Amino acid sequence: MARIVVVGSVNADLVARVARHPRPGETVLGVDLAVLPGGKGANQAVAAARLGSDVALVGAVGDDAFAPVALSGLAAAGVDTTAVARVPGPTGIALVTVSDDGENAIVVVPGANGSVSPTTVGEHGPALAAAGVVVLQCELPRATVEAAARAARGRVLLNLAPAVALDPDVVRLADPLVVNEHEARGALEVLGAEHPSRPATGRTADDAAVASALVAAGVRSVVLTLGARGALVALQGRDGVEHVQAPRVTAVDTTGAGDAFVGALTHRLAAGDRLLDAVRFANRVGAFAATSVGAQPSYPSAGDTLPGTD
Ligand code: ADP
Repeated sequence: MARIVVVGSVNADLVARVARHPRPGETVLGVDLAVLPGGKGANQAVAAARLGSDVALVGAVGDDAFAPVALSGLAAAGVDTTAVARVPGPTGIALVTVSDDGENAIVVVPGANGSVSPTTVGEHGPALAAAGVVVLQCELPRATVEAAARAARGRVLLNLAPAVALDPDVVRLADPLVVNEHEARGALEVLGAEHPSRPATGRTADDAAVASALVAAGVRSVVLTLGARGALVALQGRDGVEHVQAPRVTAVDTTGAGDAFVGALTHRLAAGDRLLDAVRFANRVGAFAATSVGAQPSYPSAGDTLPGTD
């Protein structure tokens, strides 16, 4: 099994439940403050490692009281954190409020994540070149993500989340590009590609047109996630878009389901699966993650029974 190197964010998530979100200038009382390990990079690394992959993370935390929390999930999952720097200043923080109707409002302060630079990537160049899969998201500085994609010699999985304006040539290195419905439309803009006839969200046929347009714009392969509807897969040189259904589950909290999906997809790609088979598995892991609360705490381990058929 090839080694996975994730270059990405490590955060502490401060999560409060509120009856409703405050309006500007307003104070509301919250309940249940939880301090949890988070950050897309860390979440994806933990998801792959729990499933049994050999995973290293390149990133940074600060020297404050939140650093040990941010690192706690990585350590427990056995992720190699020797390339996670401890830098002066604050750890990345996500302030999350979850209202009774299930809506999230999130403020992310990058803190130490902002110190992960192209120079950092250069220092870990040999590890990136040796990795079977390099996994990237967009919570680090843009130039860092671009440098990491260019340093990879194996497969690059780019999760364009959030959909920032990376160099289009870097987006075309992705194999696959993983995006949700909203990010997929952002990715089209990043590539300067035409929107296929003002596609609506929530309509699988329109999402399929977006996935095809991304491949037509030069992306090698695209995985477009659709929440409870599963995911679409489009490949260069192959006509049509495959719809892979997610197993039906009773969703409790979908926070971090997308990161569970990416971690599981990477786990299977590193083991040599074809993309379509890896997506089938990732849907089952994403669905599993949606059935319990939180991001990392909701991820399965290798021995857990996943929803859906084997
Ligand atoms: P994001 O959280 O990044 O917006 P999605 O909502 O598309 O991503 O979810 C990512 C993946 O997680 C889906 O492709 C699916 O595999 C799984 N998933 C998410 N929500 C559900 C759900 N309600 N039921 C089953 N699977 C889900």
